[in-house]
Amino acid sequence: MATVAEMRERLRRPLAAELASGCADRVVSGGVEKLLASPLASPFPVVREALRGYAGLDAVRREQALKTALASLGGQEKEKAAPRPPLRQAVPTADPGERLPVDAEITRLDTGPGGARKLQALGLHALRDVLHAYPHRHEDRRALPDLSTVEEGQKVTVEGRVVSKARRTPRPNLLVFDVTLETPSGGRVRASWFNQPWVERHLKDGARLVLTGRVKKFGRSVQLGVEHLETVEDAQGSLSTGRIVGVYDSKDGISQEFLRRAAHRALQAAPFDDYLPAHWRQKYGLTDLADALWGIHFPTDEGHLERATNRLRFDEYLFLELRVLLQGEDAVLLGKRFQATGEDIARFETALPFSFTNAQRRVLLEITDDMRSERQMARLVQGDVGSGKTAVAACALYLAVRDGYQGALMAPTEILARQHYTNLIGYLSKLDVRVGLLIGAMTPKVKLEMQTRIAEGDVDVVVGTQALIQENVRFDNLGLAVVDEEHRFGVMQRRRLLAGRPDVLVMSATPIPRSLALTAYGDLELSIIDELPPGRTPVETKLIQDTHRQQAYGFVMRQIREGRQAFVVTALIEENENLEALAATQLADDLKVILPEARINLLHGKMSAAEKEYVMDRFRAGEFDVLVSTTVIEVGVDVPNATVMVIENAERFGLSQLHQLRGRVGRGSAQSYCVLIAGEHSKKTRQRLKIIEGSTDGFVIAEADLKLRGPGEIRGTRQSGIPDLRLGDLSSDVEIIERARELAKHILAHDPRLEHPRLQYLRSELQNRSQSVAFREVI
Ligand code: ADP
Ligand code: MG
Repeated sequence: MATVAEMRERLRRPLAAELASGCADRVVSGGVEKLLASPLASPFPVVREALRGYAGLDAVRREQALKTALASLGGQEKEKAAPRPPLRQAVPTADPGERLPVDAEITRLDTGPGGARKLQALGLHALRDVLHAYPHRHEDRRALPDLSTVEEGQKVTVEGRVVSKARRTPRPNLLVFDVTLETPSGGRVRASWFNQPWVERHLKDGARLVLTGRVKKFGRSVQLGVEHLETVEDAQGSLSTGRIVGVYDSKDGISQEFLRRAAHRALQAAPFDDYLPAHWRQKYGLTDLADALWGIHFPTDEGHLERATNRLRFDEYLFLELRVLLQGEDAVLLGKRFQATGEDIARFETALPFSFTNAQRRVLLEITDDMRSERQMARLVQGDVGSGKTAVAACALYLAVRDGYQGALMAPTEILARQHYTNLIGYLSKLDVRVGLLIGAMTPKVKLEMQTRIAEGDVDVVVGTQALIQENVRFDNLGLAVVDEEHRFGVMQRRRLLAGRPDVLVMSATPIPRSLALTAYGDLELSIIDELPPGRTPVETKLIQDTHRQQAYGFVMRQIREGRQAFVVTALIEENENLEALAATQLADDLKVILPEARINLLHGKMSAAEKEYVMDRFRAGEFDVLVSTTVIEVGVDVPNATVMVIENAERFGLSQLHQLRGRVGRGSAQSYCVLIAGEHSKKTRQRLKIIEGSTDGFVIAEADLKLRGPGEIRGTRQSGIPDLRLGDLSSDVEIIERARELAKHILAHDPRLEHPRLQYLRSELQNRSQSVAFREVI
């Protein structure tokens, strides 16, 4: 017979673990209330009273109840020191009780062998980074009680008992396991695995499994193409099934399971010092930090996820606003003062094969005003793909060079850098401007040569990627830096490039409404090119069902026969470059069958920069007809002869991504086409895709998208393009932005330097959130 002290300890531990894991009622098998009903709890009436009806309480009340219960058990102070029991089988248990400071190096967190290195490879270095590396989407893997309502193509999770199994090899090299599963409600599901010999050991008669996969329906029977399997025992403590599961950004060799475990460890170790004092949380209807962070990684239900997202999204805007307001104080910084004479502008225009549109002209005036003033220019040029931003930037660079300065243009990828380079040579070389290229793929010798030329002022304009801002690049006299915004340059990187305090011009094709742009880009001034060059025939867009795929490719073939070229883009299947590359490879093989006459080549993220370049060069030169690719081509390659963009599985893309992709064609004078091939999708998705079909105006698309989206929708592809925003979506968050701004103003009005001890966590969080949107802070 256990002593009361022992019983107290045995009761205290699971309750403490429950508290530490966010009060989700998932720690204690059967739930907290079951524990209370056990003999273990009978000597502790206060505990039983405090936790009565636990399952029905919300997280905040659960937390209070647990604290009351724990206090009565007398373990409160010891709670941190005492080792908590292993929460789940899957979770490492070393030092479970240790709380780390939020800035602790990730190496201090036990994430298993090689864990720290994997996290670092993803750019996660401190505990804070892991906590705030939110899933980019969530999957509902709660087991469905009933499969009668599932739809074809839907991803579902089912639990059941194996009642029969079979193994077959319909073709050499194809091994299939089929299993019939009986669900607890008596339904039957067939599940299949293809070429996964290692699952066989789990498929015993009577075994109880939890499976996640996609539904295929044959009449009334349901078949599941299995993507994730766990046994019921494992699933009980699993982070990857039986719940709403987060899906994280990852890369090769880093599994979702690992990332979930790491997030879980991080949450267990997190101090949760809430930087928003309780009365503000209350005023703005926000949950506390612990509940929010647990909820974004491991939501107990949709409500929890929504609560979490609301809080964390509010925080993002709050920090953004605080930063903007804090920088406003010394907004006037000295930069370069250029002559930017009218003659030079005229000379540039004369050398152009076209004349500027009115919108380009207006924006150019705004830019030259900035350049002539002694204030440092910090201007954002926003305009749809193909609106002529680069041409305007080229003019500004020319003006800088004419005044004896160097210019730089930074692009997000090497392909794009090379393209900008080609374009700038087109614009500038006949004006005697020496343009250079500096990218990582160059040999050390060539690189060194270019670096020397840059340092000695032997080159006027340099185009490059991050290579431009690396350690050993010194400019002789940098006057103007143009940044192609799609890339998320970090603070340190900017600091390097901007060390000489040049004027700065940022280009962006992300269509967001003006008021929001002002917030998002802090104190950048905004110029908008709202007009396309004349003579562009809008891209004709057609949405089709994948059952009509053959006809779509028939159309592609006719274009090819007329001497045109086509892009075919495949959607990201999973968050894994390998799989993505595989999908593209399969599609290319497929097309070789469908389009036997066409010359087809492949481009994907697993290829080296040199390989990609080679393929792109050949495509540009017209050496083959169809380029099958993953979204690596999203950020702007120019192939004027390409008149068709086919997007497979269009339903998986966000609207702005589709719009960007479509912008790859229609760059020459010929009529161009975009074919969206949609697989299984909902009515709502169809409405969204219809928007793309109906308009080619990025702003119209962004607004229509906003109207269609209901509140509380589980977030899809990230669309903001703003480095500070992981959850925020500028096209739809007007209201949150306004509330966050109100609070930011309120805070600073009372405490302009955030000195009050109560704001200690807020201050350090503000300093440590990695990115800044404005340049001035770092100069
Ligand atoms: P963005 O950078 O906004 O995508 P670019 O500057 O690359 O746009 O311009 C897209 C294409 O249109 C280029 O081929 C460019 O030469 C051409 N172009 C730019 N401005 C004009 C104009 N005013 N009239 C005709 N063609 C233009
Ligand atoms: Mg461009």
